[in-house]
This record gives sequence, C-alpha cells and structure tokens, in this order.
Amino acid sequence: MTSGNASPIWHPFTQHALQPEMVPVSGARGAWLKTRDGGLILDAISSWWVVTHGHCHPRIVGAIEEQARRLDQVIFAGFTHAPAEMLARGLIEMVPVGLAHVFYSDSGSTSVEVALKMALGYFRNIGAPRQRIVALEYGYHGDTVGGMSVGARGVFSATYEPLLFDVARIPFPAEGREQATIDAFDAACATEPVAALIVEPLILGAGGMRIYSEHVLRELKRVAEAHGALFIADEVMTGWGRTGEPFACGKAGVAPDILCTAKGITGGSLPLAATLCTSPIFEAHHSTDRAKTFFHSSSYTANPIACAAAVANLDIWQTEPMGERLAALAAMQTERLSALAGDDRFACARQIGTITAIDLQVPDAGYLAGVGPRLARFFLEREVLLRPLGNTIYVMPPYCVSSADLDLVYAAIADAPDALAGGSS
Ligand SMILES: *Cc1c(COP(=O)(O)O)cnc(C)c1O
Repeated sequence: MTSGNASPIWHPFTQHALQPEMVPVSGARGAWLKTRDGGLILDAISSWWVVTHGHCHPRIVGAIEEQARRLDQVIFAGFTHAPAEMLARGLIEMVPVGLAHVFYSDSGSTSVEVALKMALGYFRNIGAPRQRIVALEYGYHGDTVGGMSVGARGVFSATYEPLLFDVARIPFPAEGREQATIDAFDAACATEPVAALIVEPLILGAGGMRIYSEHVLRELKRVAEAHGALFIADEVMTGWGRTGEPFACGKAGVAPDILCTAKGITGGSLPLAATLCTSPIFEAHHSTDRAKTFFHSSSYTANPIACAAAVANLDIWQTEPMGERLAALAAMQTERLSALAGDDRFACARQIGTITAIDLQVPDAGYLAGVGPRLARFFLEREVLLRPLGNTIYVMPPYCVSSADLDLVYAAIADAPDALAGGSS
C-alpha cells in the first residue's frame, strides 16, 4: 500500500485500494496544473467541469482578495450584501427569460435539492399537491439523496436504494427515437399529475456525454406546460458556455420554470450554486402564513467571497468577447475530432459547442470495466488530465486552451487504443 505517512484523506469517487497515490498539485495557471515536483498537466476536463476561463484568472482572484478583506461571511437569513444582490441581477439577465428569483446554495447537488423542494412547495402552497417527478434515462443530478433519486441508478446508488424516492423515467431521446421520449413523457403526465420534469438540457454529462436535439427539449417543455408540470433545467454542467451559448436552454429557445446552476458560476474558483425560478413559484411561497415559508438553507448560503468571484465571472462574460471565444474553441475542437471520426478504433464522435466526446471501441464488456481508469493513467503519463466515463473519452477544456494544447490532447487520444492494446498500462 502507501509508503511513509499515509494520508488520512478519503477522496471522492476513489477506490483507494486500486489508486493509493494521489497526484499532488501545487499550482495552476490557465489550462495547466503544476505538480509538486514541477511537472505540468494539461487540464482537459476543466477540473471536473468547473473551470471556465482558466485557473487563477486574475480578475476573479482579484475580486476574491478584495472581498475577503471587506466581508468574509454573514448569515443570509434576514441579511443581505452587495455581491449577492449584484450577482442575482446579473444572473437573471443571462439566463433564459422568465426566471425572476434567485436562491443560493453551495453545490450542484444542493441546487437540485432546492429545485425539487421548490417544485413540491409550489404545488402544495397553491392547494393542489403533486409529488411525482419525471426524469430522463441516464440522467445525473448529484450525489445527495434527492439528486441520486432523480438520477440514473447503478452500482454507485445501489447501497442507498431503499432511501431513494421513486421517479418516473422516460427514455433517452437518441437520434431517430425522439418521438418515443416525448410520447412517454406525455403518457406519464396523463397517468398521474406530475410536479416536475428534471433534465440536463441538450447533453447528459456524467451519463456518458449523450447529446440530444433542441427540438426534443422544446417538445418536453411544451408537454410539461400542457399538463401544468414544472420544467426543471439542471444546467449545472451545461451552463456558462459549454454548449456554445451561456445556457443550453437559451440555445434551444426554452424558458424553464426552474434552472440550476453551479460549477462554472464562479469561473470554477469557489463553490457556489443558484437555483432560479419564475414569479409564480416564488409567489406561491410568498404569504403571511409561516407554513408557506421555503424551509431551506445552508450555513454558507450566498457566501460573499464566492458571490464576489461569481460577479467577477459575470463581468468577464459581459466585457470580453465570449461568443467569439467559444466559437473559436468549438471550431478547434471540430477540426481535431473529425480527424478521429473516420478511425475505426473509435465510434460515435460527437460534439456540442465546446465539448467533444468519442467512444473507444472495446473488444468485450469485461474489458470495459477497467478501461476508464487505464485510459486515465495513460493520459496522465502523457501529461493530460482526461477522466473517461467508461470507454467514453471526452474533452471539456477551459476556454483559454490553445490550439497547441489541444493538439497534445488529441495526439494522446489517438495513441491511447494501441498503447492500451499493447498492455503498457
Ligand atoms: C456535477 C453535476 C451535479 C452535481 O454538482 P456538484 O457541485 O458536484 O454537487 C448536478 N447536476 C449535473 C448535471 C452535474 O453535472
């Protein structure tokens, strides 16, 4: 096992028996991580999808320093502060129209819990209780109990299964089978009143970088509206430019009733999340009856330093040519992905905006089990941080990544199948 002083730390999504050593990172700048021994690693997955403009962006770092000296933390029940107020106004301007209220929390998972509680609170407070939630096959919405309940079930949730609440699930709208998804949702709504549909708009992240059409998203929203069900967009991964537009719902022209955002909200610098909702949802909780209060908080709700980082992020979005930058990155990605698209060691090359994904052809299902970690190890040897989802390799870089950086990433991907077949790992 580990030599010397074994760390007491228990790492996330980590089987310590198979991976006893962690990579010690001592610094980061732009798209690169610096290891303790002076090595460099290209962060091709934005440090788990959070870093948007690059690590240690000077404007975000500056905002954090300044806010930390001014006001570090204050209770947010009964109190407010400028960074939270500025951020809320800025968020409402950036998200699709119709979202008018902002509830803060600290992670993507908590933003989803808040969304689900808002939806049930809405129906209870208007006197027409509904509890049924509908979710998409392969969905991922976080690792808290509510998030796991609405997410796809598997080995990672099996232990907690008895605690998870039941949801109706509709099939993933794969190309050519879109109507089946729309019909299934319509049927689910007709069977029993549905409180809300929760979806990751246009691309399912942790479920395998599965992309679906804007048409389906618009149809799901239309069906939800027809049945009086709320439409929850979990934009925790898709938000902040990943699909080429600030938000995926905006790209598709869909106005959700509730929108969850986290990951890129601070540019990837500090933990913060927001759940935005429409006026009717807020109004249903707005009452002199204390029983209609939205009973939710976390200790660090709207932490001023995190909010200041997010305001700096908004500022970057408002003052820098983000549209051009995202389009240029998308084009660089397309060019490199297309070189692999005809390679029969791979399949299903796909892209939406700045994200690309490709599946490694694997000889058998048994091989599949360990291929993700073996690929990840190979990429690290090539000084590239990629963390495949099984045999799906995806590239989701920070927007400052250079064309030369991307060449390194794709060269490593192109070399991976033969290196693994040769048993180098
Ligand atoms: C990452 C993610 C979450 C969970 O966010 P955390 O900040 O890790 O809790 C929820 N939904 C989606 C779509 C995600 O990608």
